[in-house]
Amino acid sequence: MSIPEHIKQRAQELTAQIRHANYLYYAVDSPEISDAAYDRLMEELKQLEIAHPELVTPESPTQRVGLEMVGTFQPSQHRKPMLSLDNAFSMEELTAWEERNRRTLGLNPETPIEYVCELKIDGSAVSLTYQNGKFVSGGTRGTGEVGEDITLNLRTISSIPLQLHTAKNVGKAFPELIEIRGEVFLSHKEFARINSEAEERGGKIFANPRNAAAGSLRQKDPTLTASRRLDLFVYTVGACEGKEFVSQFELLHTYKQWGFRTNPNVKICMGLEQVFEFCEMWFKNKESLGYDIDGVVVKVNSFAIQRELGHVSRSPRWAIAYKYPALQVHTTVLAIEVQVGRTGAITPVAHLKPMAVAGVIVSRATLHNESEIRRKDVRIGDTVVIQRAGEVIPEVVEVVFSKRTGAETEFIMPTHCPSCGSELFRPEGEAVLRCLNQTCPKKVLGNILHFASRGAMDIEGLGEKQAEQLTQIGMVRDPADLYSLTLDQMLQLERMGEKLASKILASIADSRNRPLARLIYALGIRHIGEHSSEVLAAHFGSLGKLQSASIEELSNVYEIGATTAESIVGWFSDEFNKSLLAKLTSAGVEPVAQAVSTSDQFVGKTFVFTGTLTLLKRDDAEAIVKRLGGRASGSVSRQTSYVVAGENAGSKLEKAKQLGVSVLTEQEFIDLVGD
Ligand code: NAD
Repeated sequence: MSIPEHIKQRAQELTAQIRHANYLYYAVDSPEISDAAYDRLMEELKQLEIAHPELVTPESPTQRVGLEMVGTFQPSQHRKPMLSLDNAFSMEELTAWEERNRRTLGLNPETPIEYVCELKIDGSAVSLTYQNGKFVSGGTRGTGEVGEDITLNLRTISSIPLQLHTAKNVGKAFPELIEIRGEVFLSHKEFARINSEAEERGGKIFANPRNAAAGSLRQKDPTLTASRRLDLFVYTVGACEGKEFVSQFELLHTYKQWGFRTNPNVKICMGLEQVFEFCEMWFKNKESLGYDIDGVVVKVNSFAIQRELGHVSRSPRWAIAYKYPALQVHTTVLAIEVQVGRTGAITPVAHLKPMAVAGVIVSRATLHNESEIRRKDVRIGDTVVIQRAGEVIPEVVEVVFSKRTGAETEFIMPTHCPSCGSELFRPEGEAVLRCLNQTCPKKVLGNILHFASRGAMDIEGLGEKQAEQLTQIGMVRDPADLYSLTLDQMLQLERMGEKLASKILASIADSRNRPLARLIYALGIRHIGEHSSEVLAAHFGSLGKLQSASIEELSNVYEIGATTAESIVGWFSDEFNKSLLAKLTSAGVEPVAQAVSTSDQFVGKTFVFTGTLTLLKRDDAEAIVKRLGGRASGSVSRQTSYVVAGENAGSKLEKAKQLGVSVLTEQEFIDLVGD
């Protein structure tokens, strides 16, 4: 029986819509529809194909993973395909999946199947190739067969060990070759930082942490990747020569011993009852994680059974993704106002009818910039879908066009700065309107807060309220003015006692001699995050040398690309900035000189030494790290790049293992230092 014309047409329409959405999602990292809307299109197409199998072609989106290469990077051929996962949206669908597997395996209903439940990290899949324990290359998933070679970018992620770690019970022998696969992701905190910085400079705004992680991985300039603190959890294997794994749980354990981060929230479940409990528990608690998950991946634990079940075109039969419903609600846009940021960027913000999203009342959501408002066509009075994830600023996902009445009004961007009244400009090729007045109070305030922030000059006690008053009264017009503040002046501020005033002044005085990297970061040069500041400080050693570097010289620094180099040169040649630097110098700001290094294994990396070293003195080892541009720290945190464990290492080694920080033996550290 031939397929009715209207069905054929609908299938074609859906295919075209899904292909377009795939392009925006995978190639441009800027989806225009929500994941839930995408999943609905896919589900409709799947149902049509089930009812009319003749519709299925090898090119159908239901049969393929991801997207063809778009050409920026070299292709990276996977030795074994990287598959997607089939989805289940309800417990009934999970049960149906198990029943299918039982039939394939010939198991009766009483025999429980052993599963491993893992959180489904909402990031970007990567495959890392190790040869005899050394990281040699890495790629994105791409079409599943061929991805993009992003080795240089992956090397900037500190949770990717460049050399696998040898734990006592694993032995020295690593597989000759192994493709280790996992998910690169961004924490909510880092996502919020990246988007607010992008908003400031009119850069690309990412719709969610997943797209931001994927976009950060696919930067042409590894400095940009390095400036975003990407993280990685590994969870599966591709090709593997010279090692046999027996189960998924054993694989995760081994990866951890090799120095990777594996997600700690994993559970072996006997049968689906326990799987349901795990899914429900994490649905309730997912907000506490600090990063996005969009469900739970349920995997058959035994590799022998996995092999028996095999896979279909785009997903394995032995695993399934139980997807959580998105935390989205509908509300109304009451008004749109603009804010002025540190770089003068004008950001529109939607004021919403207050609504609870995932337990928090949301009344404002960023609209990023004018072109985002136009792209989403958000109008005052519109019903919109908003979503919130963890600490991330709530976002308007899309307009519910079916609710439009015609009474909605378009928002017109102001022509003058709401803070200082000066005329606004849109620099050519940028999406953002800017206030160019260097003395605009809101800009000055933003700059002061950035200068005083923790990763910069770390001025304790100087919060938004104090900084706002100081700039409003005009006592502080640029960061250098902070150094001439007196106790009497501070006491003029509202709710300022002598104790707090003295504390702030002492902290301002202390900040004169912060490490060079912090001062570079504090200056607020576009594209320069904390990591790039470390890289620049380690390379140039002094502010003077950085200031006189040419674009070419800067571009030759490992991890610094052309865009960043141009931004640095531009910043130092600006008259306003030149006089700020002169003022800082005469205020006695003199950063601690930094060792100059060219070693990319060390620049910007943090090392912690623990236990008894037998080949080196600890002081000497720490001095080597500093000389090569790294940092030596006394405590282990997620920011630690390596823990070097000597004999009888105790709690710090334990903590490193818990956090998935790479651990080196003393000899491995010496090997890393090389000549
Ligand atoms: P998927 O995201 O549904 O699931 C498969 C992926 O999950 C794997 O490839 C892996 O990368 C990841 N994963 C995370 N944690 C894992 C773990 N512990 N074990 C194994 N895998 C784990 O499938 P997909 O093919 O990557 O993407 C399809 C989904 O992407 C859609 O369902 C939709 O939500 C979204 N999408 C959205 C748009 C849009 O326009 N909004 C467009 C395309 C795709």
